[in-house]
Amino acid sequence: MPLLTPIHVFDKKTKHDRRMPSLARRVINVTASAPAIVASGFAKTPDKEIEHRKDVCENKCPLKLWDPTAYNGAGTCLHKKCGCNMKLKNRFEVSRCPENFWETIK
Ligand code: SF4
Repeated sequence: MPLLTPIHVFDKKTKHDRRMPSLARRVINVTASAPAIVASGFAKTPDKEIEHRKDVCENKCPLKLWDPTAYNGAGTCLHKKCGCNMKLKNRFEVSRCPENFWETIK
């Protein structure tokens, strides 16, 4: 077993890559979510729901894809369908966890 384990590795257990999605992938992801945000009239997430989302990402994500260091501490989800600035993403009510954990984990 290596003395130092790199943070950004493919996790064999969860089968997810703990690397920030590429810039191109992130642009695709944001572009895909934009129509729903616009259609909602940029509806804001209630504070209680923001706290719930943060709690799930930071403490309960079964895939352990939370990276608190990204975007100068705003944090991100390293899922290939995300890579968003979570402070920004969480502001929009229609935003979704790519694995629906926000809805399924209490
Ligand atoms: S958005 Fe979902 S998959 Fe990503 S870190 Fe949060 S709970 Fe995990």
